[in-house]
Amino acid sequence: MTIAFNKLEVRVRLAAIRANYRLLCSRGSRVIGVIKADAYGHGLTEVASALAKEGCDTFAVGTVEEGAALRRHLAATGLSSRIIVLLGPIEPDDFPPLWEHSLLPLIGSFRQLEALARQAARIGKGLDMCLKFDTGMARLGFGAEDLPRLLDRLREAPLVRPVMASSHLATADQPESVDYLMAQAERFTFILSNLAKAGYQLEANLANSAGILGHPSVHHQSQRAGIALYGANPFAGSAWEHLGRGLTPAMTVRTRIVSVHSLPRGCSISYGCTYTAERDMRVAIVAAGYADAYSRTLTGKSAQMLVAGRRAPVVGRVCMQLTACDVSDIPDARPGEWATLLGGDGPLAISPEELASWWGTISYEVFCLLGLNRRVYI
Ligand SMILES: *Cc1c(COP(=O)(O)O)cnc(C)c1O
Repeated sequence: MTIAFNKLEVRVRLAAIRANYRLLCSRGSRVIGVIKADAYGHGLTEVASALAKEGCDTFAVGTVEEGAALRRHLAATGLSSRIIVLLGPIEPDDFPPLWEHSLLPLIGSFRQLEALARQAARIGKGLDMCLKFDTGMARLGFGAEDLPRLLDRLREAPLVRPVMASSHLATADQPESVDYLMAQAERFTFILSNLAKAGYQLEANLANSAGILGHPSVHHQSQRAGIALYGANPFAGSAWEHLGRGLTPAMTVRTRIVSVHSLPRGCSISYGCTYTAERDMRVAIVAAGYADAYSRTLTGKSAQMLVAGRRAPVVGRVCMQLTACDVSDIPDARPGEWATLLGGDGPLAISPEELASWWGTISYEVFCLLGLNRRVYI
């Protein structure tokens, strides 16, 4: 899915993703590349290939469809990496592709488990899968109280073979919430020891990016890294910011300046006339708006762009395909030149966290949404 026919250009530096992967490997054991949601907007197949070159042999995707697409790509490049499906199977059509494409589904409910066992029995073929446990997210997964029944059901369905156990941390990026994290970690350890007693010695993983960088004590046999692969610091703005130092953002977003004109003092600009020039100004009209996932929420929030190496404040409402910025102090701003919305060169580069803060969101959403635009790999 991409936004077609617009002027925005998302530039992805795969070398940065590879370097971030190496940094994460130096902090944790086996790192699983989380490339769900089109690799957080960076491109599923391109990112998988880049990570595979660094030795990544296990990927986590969002859906069965995403898993199938990745399997086709990997097979064509001669790779037989493991592919974990984080969401699903959800509906009946999701089951056959698990076998067809050797996908490792994350199974977190008896409903899913029964359906998987039925399908395995019907076709007479086993399937490796991953057990998902809820230790505090309260989203998906078996609870510790489900263990007796779960172990019974697993014994009755030998074609369905658990090879991995996962749980997800709710607060790993909040240094002030270590107690909650430790309680989750303890519940997970309890679950793992019960599985082991029943004969299931599983590869376990609990840590996300923040868990890898900030909590070595919750590392197990593998870790699941998402946001840090793409270069955003999960601890940005917190007391632990230094733990994410060395990560390099991989995504840059830029678009063209359509027009540059003067805005005399007292004149207002854009819908609703919400901004009025307090002095004689020059403004650049830039080819980016909310149809390009440059959110209208960026209106009136001190958002900036980078034009000719300088910061240009957004003025007036963000429109569907256009946004105005103040280039009064940037004589080099000209029609046809680039305006950078995310990233850029030098100390004035717009960080993912900075754009996210103007936007009222987190770097994850910035990447996923802007990543819907046309991408080029540099
Ligand atoms: C998205 C996701 C991750 C990655 O989390 P980051 O904070 O991006 O590192 C890990 N595990 C699961 C289950 C996820 O859904």
